[in-house]
This record gives sequence, structure tokens and C-alpha cells, in this order.
Amino acid sequence: MHELVYYYPQGHEAHRENGHPERPDRVEAMVKALKEIGWWDSFPHLEPQELSSAVLEGVHTRSFLSQLEEVCARGQRFDMDTYTTTASWDLAVKTAGGAVAVSKSVWEREAKRGFALTRPPGHHATPNQAMGFCLINNVAVAAEFLIQEKGAKRLAIIDLDQHHGNGTQDIFWDRGDVFYISTHQSPHYPGTGQVSETGTGDGDGATANFPLPPFTGDQAFLTIMDEGIIPLLDRFAPEMTLVSYGFDPHWRDPLGNLMLTAGGYGDLVSRLCNWADQNCDGRIALYLEGGYDLEAAEACAQGVVAALLDEEWDDPLGAPNQPESTAWQAMFREAGDIWDL
Ligand SMILES: [Zn+2]
Repeated sequence: MHELVYYYPQGHEAHRENGHPERPDRVEAMVKALKEIGWWDSFPHLEPQELSSAVLEGVHTRSFLSQLEEVCARGQRFDMDTYTTTASWDLAVKTAGGAVAVSKSVWEREAKRGFALTRPPGHHATPNQAMGFCLINNVAVAAEFLIQEKGAKRLAIIDLDQHHGNGTQDIFWDRGDVFYISTHQSPHYPGTGQVSETGTGDGDGATANFPLPPFTGDQAFLTIMDEGIIPLLDRFAPEMTLVSYGFDPHWRDPLGNLMLTAGGYGDLVSRLCNWADQNCDGRIALYLEGGYDLEAAEACAQGVVAALLDEEWDDPLGAPNQPESTAWQAMFREAGDIWDL
């Protein structure tokens, strides 16, 4: 079994807009950092999997998918934030296929861990809307593939991006087969992800949100992981853990005000890997969402891959010179009441 497999989005540089923060350099900075530390060429890079329309349409409506293809064919914007180029449709379908390839490899135990540099990102894409720089919801497609084609019954998606993954939440809102858990800055874009949002119908109790006030840092993230997310995973008992990772909770990120360090990010992923080893046959894979500071992307990529490989690693960026706020504790008490934590 491979220790790790990657997906790298070949050709992704063709999805770009001058001056836009969601730019190809984000992925290239991660690759550079992983090459420098010797962890890039030593592990297989998977080709994207062909996607059936049944899997894509299990996540997005058919009318949205044709609309997205047309908007991309003209290279127009989907909304104020969300640009496309004439290459974007192919790249978005391919990167969703890359997310699937990584998931499949980990599901089938060909690889112990998976790390997908999915770009364009996905977690804001809802069943019928592209938004927030996101076109196709990669992690949702990966989960849907495992359910439709591999017989998965219970999956967890943990979203550690600085923004709430409203699209992923919407897609699985009334489904009991995918448990969505998110930490994100609040109030912030896109405005969703309050503690009280817990799903409906079959999905009642299969969505958990931990909205974080500005200046929440490592200690709070680790407490929420140990006393919130892990106990919820114990309860839901997924067969695989899929992680939406974005490096925008890092303290250097220009679009956010959370204070996570790269070392702290690695610690969060280590906790999830340990849980996966003990509870779901070690099945865990990560899928890129946001993160807009290149130095943070370099450090976080190393910190997170160190965690996936169970290697020691020193964070060159360290912590910001500012005390962590304790304002998150009120939110966590409210979550504790709702979830009986
Ligand atoms: Zn984000």
C-alpha cells in the first residue's frame, strides 16, 4: 500500500483572472514546498477518474451543469466573485475526477492517505449555483462516487476552510449518509453555518457547525477538535473521513482573521488521522478549497503532509504576536447544549 497519493490538477493555470486571489500560484506554492521537503516526487500522482453523469447529477442539478458549461464556454463570470475561462469547464470536471481518484484509492486501501490539490475549488458550489470562486463541488462529488459506485453507507466531510462550505452543507442537508462538520470564521462570507443549522429530514443531526469569532487560534481549534468534532465522529461512525482543507484559517491569510498556525493545522489533521486509524480502517483523504497567502500555503502544505505521513515537522512561520481571543467559548457552550457534548 502507498503511504500517500496525490492529485495534481494538470493544466490548472488556464483557470485564472488577473488580480484575483484564487490564482494558480496557490497550488504551485504548495508543490514547491512539498518538492523542497522531498515529499512530492516520492508518492504517486493519480490521473482524474472519468465521472458518470449519475454521480455528477447526484450532487448538482442537470440544468446547473449545462448552465455552468455554457458560462465557461463564453469565459464569463458566474457572479461578482466567480470567474471562468474557456478552459474552466474541462478543468473543473477534471479536478472533481481527481478528487474521486484519490477517494477511490484510499477507499480501496491502495493508499493509506490521499491529498488532492483540487483547483478550481468546490465547497461553496451548491446543487444549482457556482459561487465563492467554486464551480463543481469536488469533495461532494468524491463522497457521492463512493456512495453510488463503492457502496459506502456513511461518510464524514470535515471542512477546515476559513469559510463555511455552504454548498457542501446544502448538497447533503437532507441526507443521512454524509455527515458534514465545519469550523469557519463567523460572521463572514457566505453568512451560513450557525450552530443551529443541523440538517433536516433524513439529514437531521447530520450537519454540525462550529462558527468561530475573529482571532480564534490553535488552542481553540484543538479543543473543538478533541471535545467537539472527534466525539461527533465517534457517534456518526463514518467508513471514511473526507477533509475539505483550505489554508485561509492561517494567521497570515489576507481574507480572514482566524489565527491558526501551520503547526496547528498539522495537529488537527494528525488528530483526524489517528481517529481514522482507530475507527475507519485508516481511510482519510484531503481536498483543497481556499487559502490566499502563498507563504502560509507553503508552510501549511508541509505541516499537513507531515501529519499525513506521521513525520516530525517544525513550523517556520510560528504563531502571530497576538493573544488568542476566548470569544469562541460561548459558541462552544451553545454547540455543547445542542449536541450534548
Ligand atoms: Zn475559504
